Amino acid sequence: MSAQIISGTELAASIRETIATRAAELTTLGHKPGLAVVLVGDDPASRVYVRNKVSACEKAGFKSVMYEMPENTSQDALVGLVQQLNADPSIHGILVQLPLPKHLDSHVVIETISAAKDVDGFHISNAGLLMTGKPLFRPCTPYGVMKMLELTGIELRGAEAVVIGASNIVGKPQAMLLLQQGATVTLCNSKTKDLKSHCQRADILVVAVGRPNMITGDMIKPGAVVIDVGINRVDGKLCGDVDFDSAKEVAGWITPVPGGVGPMTITMLLQNTIEAVERSL
Ligand code: NAD
Repeated sequence: MSAQIISGTELAASIRETIATRAAELTTLGHKPGLAVVLVGDDPASRVYVRNKVSACEKAGFKSVMYEMPENTSQDALVGLVQQLNADPSIHGILVQLPLPKHLDSHVVIETISAAKDVDGFHISNAGLLMTGKPLFRPCTPYGVMKMLELTGIELRGAEAVVIGASNIVGKPQAMLLLQQGATVTLCNSKTKDLKSHCQRADILVVAVGRPNMITGDMIKPGAVVIDVGINRVDGKLCGDVDFDSAKEVAGWITPVPGGVGPMTITMLLQNTIEAVERSL
């Protein structure tokens, strides 16, 4: 048996078309969606991520402004820029690319972003709203995973969902979103004993750790839906946290890396920005 592929690239392209149409309508009404992206320092990976986000915004017809600040930027200067963007009516979404240089307190910076413009969904009040089942902005990666499951027609009610990795930006919000759709959720972390037995119970397995090929076919329940969030580089090639070749022989559905969750993440950033505009009207 070979699993069916869930193509993030294809799903993202179709969602982006809808987003671009809505952006054009909003622009005609005088409300062009605006996203500000702030990059501090010279981290090459962050620079690539930021460029991709800005380019996706432009293609969708958004106003997109990139602020580049030097590595030695002070906390006050960064907080000042965020406050200025909070007050700018042409900016509906603000994203500060993480990680920040070590001398900056990312918690303080994220809390300075207006919760109504926090399109990454990392602000503590957005995390709280998500936890209480009334999300305003859903963090983009788990939101993208939920969209993939929805568009593929995967039944979540009553399903055993296992999420591996419990970060604030992926694993924890992912678990909450699955729970809200009626799945029975297990959230695994680095201290989990017998990870394999948890995985083997999963109808839906979401892996977000950052360890190349850690989940192999023998750990997967036959027919399961396997969503690989991991992005790793091995010998210059991108790979996920799931050993695709062995997993696809057992799973029912599987996402590839690249071309799986990655394109959905940026798409949901656009989606969150559109939602921010609509809420502001
Ligand atoms: P993180 O380092 O913040 O968190 C990793 C989590 O994995 C932690 O909760 C840790 O406890 C858990 N973990 C570590 N070893 C484990 C083990 N052996 N068994 C079970 N759990 C274990 O990472 P993150 O920011 O959540 O990102 C995870 C991965 O997802 C990375 O590869 C990252 O690049 C990728 N990512 C991809 C996208 C995308 O758009 N596709 C977006 C965000 C993150």
